[in-house]
Amino acid sequence: MTATPSAKIYRPTPRNLARLARVLAEGGLVAAPTETVYGLAADALNAKACRAIFRAKGRPANDPLIVHVASVEQADTVAVLNDAARKVAKLFWPGPLTLVLPKRDNVPDIVTSGLPSVAVRLPSHQLFRELIRLSGRPLAAPSANPFGYVSPTTAAHVFDGLGKRINHILDGGSAKIGVESTILDLRDPKHPVLLRPGAVSREALARVLGRKITLHRRPVPAASAAVSPGLLERHYSPRTPLTLVKKLTPALIRKATAREALLFIQKPAVTGPNTFWLAEAPNAFDQAAHNLFDRLRTLDNGTWSHIHAELAPGADALALAVNDRLRRAAAKR
Ligand code: AMP
Ligand code: MG
Repeated sequence: MTATPSAKIYRPTPRNLARLARVLAEGGLVAAPTETVYGLAADALNAKACRAIFRAKGRPANDPLIVHVASVEQADTVAVLNDAARKVAKLFWPGPLTLVLPKRDNVPDIVTSGLPSVAVRLPSHQLFRELIRLSGRPLAAPSANPFGYVSPTTAAHVFDGLGKRINHILDGGSAKIGVESTILDLRDPKHPVLLRPGAVSREALARVLGRKITLHRRPVPAASAAVSPGLLERHYSPRTPLTLVKKLTPALIRKATAREALLFIQKPAVTGPNTFWLAEAPNAFDQAAHNLFDRLRTLDNGTWSHIHAELAPGADALALAVNDRLRRAAAKR
């Protein structure tokens, strides 16, 4: 009988980094922290290694992967950067911004779901960049969780979801931002399109480009998602049913049963055993984003029959990113 495989969690020592970079260079999978969420990385130029990502996550092949690089020069080796891309890269890289651009021939079809475009990002996380540098490869890395479930922001989250399907997890503490990167489609630099909201705001991008940025129409029907196949309506979802309200009002709070959890954005004035929140202070959307996925995971532990969550107010980039994830977490199966 073979024992159930179980992932090993590595501390970020130089020795472990060198070892994990070797695993990547040899076509293996490594889960590692980025500033957004934890990613499940593989050599982006190795089709077999990238296929293993899809297998481990149970991710459908029509949901393309983001390729992570350690420099703009390396981005040039997988994507064709236009002037608009260079402009935003100069300002927002390294950081939580992914650009969709025409791809180069060396990027395997499995990475881009057969599209002529590739999504590329230069992350700011030192450990992740070190893995790219030491492995000598661009790394394809979607979030390190089973497809469709709440994204992981700690090594323990990765272990919970993929501990039996992968062997290597690099522990870099909790991911600072906590929600996935902003995705900007620059295939046509005259018509930039925001595919996913994240920490980099649409306004800041519009200012740098000197152009209006169109919002990708949402929700994307699963069957006709050719523009950006992964932007499915339902995603980031706990098993516990979750419904959204604009604001949790006193009437709604009174109506909730003892098994119904109430998830506020900001700590409410009156709290009870079923009251939870994402941020202590008002308008602390960075805190709300940082705590969102961890909170959804703890609320999904079987204690609660239902989660009532409220939306973040205002138009802050991270408030919009939190709302985008909440909406998709609440979308019907
Ligand atoms: P993630 O779920 O964080 O791995 O983000 C990957 C998402 O980026 C996909 O689900 C797509 O929406 C988008 N994406 C990745 N590659 C491409 C591409 N070549 N063209 C358009 N969108 C892409
Ligand atoms: Mg994901």
